[in-house]
Amino acid sequence: ETTMAFKELDTQSWQVLDRAHYLHPSTDHASLRQTGARVAAHAEGIYVWDTDGERLIDGLSGLGNVNIGYGRKELVDAAAAQMLELSYCQSFFKTTHRAAISLAEKLTSMLPGHLNHVFFQSSGSEANETGTRLARRYWDLLGKPEKRIFIARELAYHGSSHMAASLSGIWPMHKAGGDLPLSNVTHIKTAYQYRNGFGMDADAFGVLAASWLEDKILEIGADNIAAFVAEPAQSAGGAICPPMTYWPEIQRICKKYDILLIVDEVVMGFGRTGEWFGCYKYGIEPDIMQVGKAITSGYLPLSGTIISDRVADVLIDQGGAWDHGYTYSGHPACCAVALENIRILDEEGIVENAGKELAPYFQAKLDAFADHPLIGDIRYVGLMGGLEIVKDKASREAYAYEAHIGDFCSAEALKRGLALRANGDTMSLMPPLITTKAQMDEIFDITREALDATAKHYGVTA
Ligand code: PLP
Repeated sequence: ETTMAFKELDTQSWQVLDRAHYLHPSTDHASLRQTGARVAAHAEGIYVWDTDGERLIDGLSGLGNVNIGYGRKELVDAAAAQMLELSYCQSFFKTTHRAAISLAEKLTSMLPGHLNHVFFQSSGSEANETGTRLARRYWDLLGKPEKRIFIARELAYHGSSHMAASLSGIWPMHKAGGDLPLSNVTHIKTAYQYRNGFGMDADAFGVLAASWLEDKILEIGADNIAAFVAEPAQSAGGAICPPMTYWPEIQRICKKYDILLIVDEVVMGFGRTGEWFGCYKYGIEPDIMQVGKAITSGYLPLSGTIISDRVADVLIDQGGAWDHGYTYSGHPACCAVALENIRILDEEGIVENAGKELAPYFQAKLDAFADHPLIGDIRYVGLMGGLEIVKDKASREAYAYEAHIGDFCSAEALKRGLALRANGDTMSLMPPLITTKAQMDEIFDITREALDATAKHYGVTA
């Protein structure tokens, strides 16, 4: 039963209207026209029900954001109370409000001591726009406008606006519109050991992968580089998790060449790695950090760009007005929901439990796929995991793109009531942080069934 004033239609009619009028994000609409979309109706905990009453386990936490699970009334109440009290407040000029101030203070208290200033916007893409504009502004104010190039990584995902898509290293995104990447973005190989350092000692590979940043800096000259931009671990690229030696080396190289370090925690922030932030998991001290997604567990849109004293001091003391801002920067209801979300994640020990109890269980379940005939590589950090499908385990040969084996496998999982995602041919899982061990068992039982059905369809035997 719905409390909203929707038309009373059956599922098929919704699908017809959906195809006619609603352009979905990142979707093959030709294929959608043939299959029709699943129409979600309501959700609770880790489950989503569609308009036919069928239940789906959300093994992806929405898009890596619904960390607290669906249907927490406290978050709804926080939004409603804030909307009744102060539904909107712009803070472009000299107005502010308590929800944004409280959230900015809360975030900075949770982060390393040098990160003391927060800029808000609605999405991760916008957070990356802010971070990169800010880096350029910083160097301009210091009289070094030629420091304008951003180094990012292959298989990175930073969003869909022009700069965020440019920073992304998933190449089809560059063709999706505009002459991308923008001319001041370049990419290096990433810490993807299965493809870029197979068979090496993991620690040695971490150091090697970091050295690719130094190679690039030497190639284009540190005087031309604004920043290195990276996710602590890459999610949309296919659960690419660096060895522990990688980030300390990256940090050292950025310091050595005086290059800002911008860390995109849009997915990793708020517990995905089993720590509150990826920077704690990997020991990173960013100059600028982006957060979003799970900051509200997906109940409302909000992102933050968190700025170190080093950068903020220049911006504030030397900058004058900075003409950058969004209508919904620091939206009161979004900030109130974020505060309540963080309170619950903390007071109920959800992040702590995810790291200490759930992550080892999840990771052992992933490791159990080592003997599966389709799985060539298994990667994880915290509650993000990936199972990479290959055609030949010995040679690591991938299936041809046209085989669409990852998509086939995710469709098989969906048929059996589990949402997971094919990032290329890596089957990615990011369950909510409130998933129980029994629910985890169910997730992996379905994952195995889906992989077995895929193996059968593609004629693969053990
Ligand atoms: N950064 C990372 C690491 C992401 O994974 C994403 C989205 O998946 C983004 C940024 C973009 O965030 P949004 O979709 O909210 O613009």
